[in-house]
Amino acid sequence: MHELSMAQGIINAVLETAENNNATEVTEIYIEVGRLAMLNPEQLRFLLDVLVENTIAENAKIDISEIPVTINCPECGYEGVANLDDSDHYAPIIECPNCENLRISILNGKDCVVKNIVIEKPDEE
Ligand SMILES: [Zn+2]
Repeated sequence: MHELSMAQGIINAVLETAENNNATEVTEIYIEVGRLAMLNPEQLRFLLDVLVENTIAENAKIDISEIPVTINCPECGYEGVANLDDSDHYAPIIECPNCENLRISILNGKDCVVKNIVIEKPDEE
């Protein structure tokens, strides 16, 4: 399942970052999911909740935000947020809002990234 491998990758990255920073606990995790990442945010959240069990991120607040698809249109030079029809989840239609061209290049919105994490460090006093 696509969501599972993504969720596993996210948690691995979070725990690795936390370990590199000598964290005792991860309290918040901020994730950005592109509209074209083909991820169901609810399913992703469910999997993340399962995967953090018995790790230092067990009680972390997980924040998932969807980010829009941005494109570059070779026809009219438009660069920005695309018109997106993703009613068909697996074959979304992406269009230039300016000239309705479909042959655009996608700049952003395909990835799922860990934007930020908040950690607790051991008391040094
Ligand atoms: Zn255009």
